[in-house]
Amino acid sequence: MRLCADVGGSFVDIAAFDDAGAIGWRRKVPTPVDDWAAFVAVFADVLAVVACERVSIATAGLVDPVSGIVTSANIRCIDGRRLADELARVLAVPVRVVNDADAFVLAEAARGVAMGHERVFGIILGTGVGGGLVERGRIVGGAGGIGGEWGHGQVVHDSPIAPGTNPVFACGCGLKGCLDTIGSARGLERLHRFLHGIAADSFAIAGDAAAGKRRAVATVDYWCDLVGGPLAMLLHAVSATIVPVGGGLANAPALIAALDARVRANLLIPAAIPVVVPGRLGDDAGLIGALVAGG
Ligand SMILES: [Zn+2]
Repeated sequence: MRLCADVGGSFVDIAAFDDAGAIGWRRKVPTPVDDWAAFVAVFADVLAVVACERVSIATAGLVDPVSGIVTSANIRCIDGRRLADELARVLAVPVRVVNDADAFVLAEAARGVAMGHERVFGIILGTGVGGGLVERGRIVGGAGGIGGEWGHGQVVHDSPIAPGTNPVFACGCGLKGCLDTIGSARGLERLHRFLHGIAADSFAIAGDAAAGKRRAVATVDYWCDLVGGPLAMLLHAVSATIVPVGGGLANAPALIAALDARVRANLLIPAAIPVVVPGRLGDDAGLIGALVAGG
């Protein structure tokens, strides 16, 4: 058996996989964000009753592939720790830790919508914008584990002749106009408010756009420009052939279909079938990605 966990800011989804890769046992517990001892106990308690040879964890936050140090703003008790090494020491089993966006892409490449593709660039459109690049079933981690993270970097600039007319929003990373400020669910809502002065939920905006309502159509059209342009450029740069989408907005199929159409319109090599597609594994993606990453 292998113990796998998907550690998010609110919950730890934890499961034991059998040797055939099927889930044999699973539960969800609140994440002890500030309590290291309680965090360790989440795993130790399971290992005390379910015999597992190794542990694999997908977690929110960056994982430096060289030092193993995790940087996590939301889960403070693991921030700055060599998480895999420290857990392995107390749990007395090998531990592998990967970023959760990378785990999502690994899972979709191994068992999901991206099966059979050599190079997969997966994206997360949720509370923020994340991503991961997987080549031949392996994560391209990059310096500091930042490989595939396309959310930060300016995509919206202020107009030099009419300041304030473009949707340039401050980003949590310290920059302005990042893709993260536009491409996330909150970003879509922010853009709608900026364009029309209307506060609406991201799913309502996506639904209204699909129904042809004028203002929502304009918002989604602009959103597709701002997200789809950089995405098409990235696909050219890394030669990925499919983009599985995870995060909350993956549950808005019409929005993802609109983004796919915009991306394909920007590709130099035409794609006859959808490229940007919702992931297939849903809530299991993090766990399966952790399993795959654990080897
Ligand atoms: Zn940023």
